[in-house]
Amino acid sequence: MKIHEYQAKQLLAAAGVPVPRGIVARTPEEAAAAFDTLAGPLAVVKSQIHAGGRGKGRFLEYPDQPGVVLVRSADEARDHATRMLGQTLVTVQTGDSGKTVNTLFVEAGLDIAREIYLGVVVDRESNGPVLIVSSEGGMNIEEVAERSPEKILSEPVDSGYGLHAFQARKLAYQLELSGTTVRHAERFFPKVCQFFLDNDCSMTEINPLVVTTDGELLALDAKVSFDDNAMYRHKEFLELRDLSEEDESEVRAGKAGLSYVNLDGNIGCLVNGAGLAMSTMDLIKLHGGEPANFLDVGGGANVDQVTEAFRIILSDGNVQAVLVNIFGGIMQCDTIVEALLEAYEKVGFTVPLVVRLEGTNVDIARTMLEQSGRDIITASDLTDAAQKVVGTLSP
Ligand code: ADP
Ligand code: MG
Repeated sequence: MKIHEYQAKQLLAAAGVPVPRGIVARTPEEAAAAFDTLAGPLAVVKSQIHAGGRGKGRFLEYPDQPGVVLVRSADEARDHATRMLGQTLVTVQTGDSGKTVNTLFVEAGLDIAREIYLGVVVDRESNGPVLIVSSEGGMNIEEVAERSPEKILSEPVDSGYGLHAFQARKLAYQLELSGTTVRHAERFFPKVCQFFLDNDCSMTEINPLVVTTDGELLALDAKVSFDDNAMYRHKEFLELRDLSEEDESEVRAGKAGLSYVNLDGNIGCLVNGAGLAMSTMDLIKLHGGEPANFLDVGGGANVDQVTEAFRIILSDGNVQAVLVNIFGGIMQCDTIVEALLEAYEKVGFTVPLVVRLEGTNVDIARTMLEQSGRDIITASDLTDAAQKVVGTLSP
């Protein structure tokens, strides 16, 4: 689960991580008032969306308007807010259709001496969290990682203890921080790591972490996402969720207890079991197709869930064919066929449907399919199913 920058900063501040002063604004008037309250010569108006690259991003409706902008008066703050609120921001991370900005964060402008990159993520190589820093922080970190990977420094984080003091010092010296900034880093780095651990994050990214002209460290940007599997022990985070930022179909699937991820292809998939879903997608690709989604109906799905699953798949305008691949273990093949026929009736299939069934009650299920008189293509195995579904598409 992702949260907004302003929410992440509130949580970080509560955990003792220094952040700039900032005020949430939802109207141009509130943005102007926020500028006055901050009372600085300089403020920054920042679009709140669940995607990065806002500084370099531009609005569809106002191609000259950046998603993060420096302002020097309340009037300027109001003007920019008018061109940002309710408009569509496109960044490298949003895709071409962009994201609607409903909230702004107005923050005190800082005198920046240096911009550093800092991130904590889960590292599969060290089997735990890793703290990543780079002297080349700011808006081009992806390019740095590609062109000069040696400028990316990292330290594994002990998930029982957190970041050790010597590790914080080591990174501070490698970053060539000096004087009091080293002392600040010795507190800052472990605190961010502790925040990551305490909140079961999957990512905590501060880019840029700035060194001010006074040598202090402040989190200028903050991107936090939580591990969904740990949400049961963080009920307090549920109120931070912004459903308008999430994929509508994925939210709908979540409510029905289905694991669904929307993808770019045109072959809808309904599969039981995450591993089987992954291999089904692999086989579709192997035979020249592109999956439109990942969908795992789980081991014990009922007729309602499967009907809802078909509705979600068919509501995707890109779907030109559907592949159902079921291994009936706990889930019985006849339950799936019952749901499938019900969905066929209720939702109406306007695209070819290929079905491959195996396992418990498969004979009953096949007979049900045959007797239904529906236009359903059956497949004998997974390869056959993938070839048949790809074959239904016009080249
Ligand atoms: P994004 O990563 O989405 O582009 P950031 O929050 O990192 O958004 O802001 C982009 C850039 O804007 C930063 O790299 C920094 O140079 C500038 N900036 C952001 N907030 C402030 C601030 N409070 N004071 C001064 N400059 C800022
Ligand atoms: Mg940033």
